[in-house]
Amino acid sequence: MTIFQKIIDREIPADIVYEDDDALAFRDVNPQAPVHVLVIPKHPIVKVADMTATDKELIGHVMWVAREVAAQEKLEDFRLVVNNGAGAGQTVFHLHVHVLGGRGMQWPPG
Ligand code: 5GP
Repeated sequence: MTIFQKIIDREIPADIVYEDDDALAFRDVNPQAPVHVLVIPKHPIVKVADMTATDKELIGHVMWVAREVAAQEKLEDFRLVVNNGAGAGQTVFHLHVHVLGGRGMQWPPG
C-alpha cells in the first residue's frame, strides 16, 4: 500500500484542498513552489504507463480537478507535472499530478 492510499483512507493526515467521489487533492509535504498540490485518482493506478483504456475518463477527471485546484488557488500560470517511473523522478507509485504555481518557472525543468 502506498502513502497516498493511506491518505485516501485517512490513516495519515494531509492538508486536503479538494475531494470528490473519484479524486483527492492535498498539499505536498515537501513543497517545491508556494502552491504545490498533488491530485490523485482514488482508484490506484501505479503510473501513466500502466493506464488502460478504461482509465481514460478517470484521468481526464483528475486533470479537470487539477484545473479546479489551480483556479481555487487563484493561479493564473501554473505547471502540471506527472513523473512516470523512478528514472523520471517518481517516488510514490500511485499516479498523481503535481500542480505547481506561485513562482516563475524555467523550461526545460532539468
Ligand atoms: P513523485 O516524486 O512521485 O512525482 O511525487 C511524490 C510527491 O509526494 C513528492 O513531491 C513528495 O514530497 C510527496 N509526498 C511524499 N510523501 C508524502 C506524504 O506523506 N504526504 C504528502 N502530503 N506528500 C507526500
